[in-house]
Amino acid sequence: MASYQKVKGTQDFFGLHSKKLRLLEANIKKTAESFGFQEMKTPIIEHTEVFTRSVGDDSDIVSKEMYTFEDRGHRSITLRPEGTAPVVRAYIENKLYGNGNSISKYYYVGPMFRYERPQAGRYREFHQFGVEAIGHGSPLLDCDVIISAYRLFQKLGISHITLKINSIGDFESRSYYRNALEVYFKEQLEGLCGDCHRRYEKNPMRILDCKVDKENPILKNAPKIKDYLNEASREYFSEVCKILDRFQIKYVVDEGLVRGLDYYTDTVFEYIMESDDELNGLAICAGGKYGGLVHELGGPDLPGIGYAFGLDRIISILDTQNKWGTIDTSIDAFVIGLDPESKLMALEVANECRDAGLIVELDYRSTILKTQFKTSEAFNPKYFIIIGEEERESRMITIKNSQNKTQERIAMSMCASWIKENR
Ligand code: ATP
Ligand code: MG
Repeated sequence: MASYQKVKGTQDFFGLHSKKLRLLEANIKKTAESFGFQEMKTPIIEHTEVFTRSVGDDSDIVSKEMYTFEDRGHRSITLRPEGTAPVVRAYIENKLYGNGNSISKYYYVGPMFRYERPQAGRYREFHQFGVEAIGHGSPLLDCDVIISAYRLFQKLGISHITLKINSIGDFESRSYYRNALEVYFKEQLEGLCGDCHRRYEKNPMRILDCKVDKENPILKNAPKIKDYLNEASREYFSEVCKILDRFQIKYVVDEGLVRGLDYYTDTVFEYIMESDDELNGLAICAGGKYGGLVHELGGPDLPGIGYAFGLDRIISILDTQNKWGTIDTSIDAFVIGLDPESKLMALEVANECRDAGLIVELDYRSTILKTQFKTSEAFNPKYFIIIGEEERESRMITIKNSQNKTQERIAMSMCASWIKENR
């Protein structure tokens, strides 16, 4: 008989792992909401153009990582590889910009798909949480967004992360810089990888993002954006740094940090993991301001800023840093019935307790006490509710504490409220 395995680079979530993902999501949603971000859910699939127009044809994502297919109506559809373009698409399509004077703040959480080589912290289906604040651009908003990510990490108890920031300037500064890079790399092309040759033609800033040439001195000695920032961009960035200082958010300015995409402007940032294992140096959160994206996707000329972080990598950090605290995997009660009639009553009691919000299980197979205790072990119940002929007739059940083994008899009708008070 055929047996199937999950698609390479994907994961099944069950047991403790799925509980961790849920806890994480609940925690970050609460913090994001306190910052005024509201949830936006966009479809998993989009028209391919949403990504090619925004993320860019020559990016790694678009050129080699997308799951793209033709649907039965011959449309080109892509499983979303990232969350910013879909949110901006929805913002424009639903005219959420109103009269253009408001700021819209959204968060999203869900699976993303990229055809990458699976390895530690890198999957083909992974989970991202991200925020987007659209409609306005100022150092104050940039900092509030950067701080919201910082608070998320703090609330999760994550330490040992570094915030790297940089400015890639406004459109004018970027065009000076682009010219300088073209001149510089023209002489150095032989020393660069094949992809970088392609990047040189299309967008030389992307060479600085190259993973292959990361340690190449040609990249390290390339002109730095900071020497090409105009007055307005320099002032903007210094204001961002001042605000972060005032809020005692530690950061390092990383002159090599660029977003090669045409629509990013001014502030870009990343949070990087420091750890003793193979996850060291991996980015857990990346973001930036986008001055041109909303317009490029057909909306009004309004800026936005956002970030995305990888939940799978956060789960690994919380594991390594041992930061989960105690995750309660127990259930409230396990109901035991000692004969067929009592089993029916056990089901009745279980459902009354469930209606009251308790987590309750029972054994569907056996009427033997010992067997039922054995079944209960997988559930780790706080209490056992035991029902036999005598309990049935008197409508008084026996309730047993699984820890200290003490036992009490209470009226069946009081069962749920008694457990609620004593759990
Ligand atoms: P990397 O440099 O690690 O490839 P990236 O620049 O492609 O990251 P972004 O597109 O900025 O990543 O996505 C934001 C975050 O999403 C990353 O910082 C990371 O935590 C997470 N992420 C990206 N790709 C994957 C993946 N394949 N598997 C798991 N998490 C991922
Ligand atoms: Mg990547």
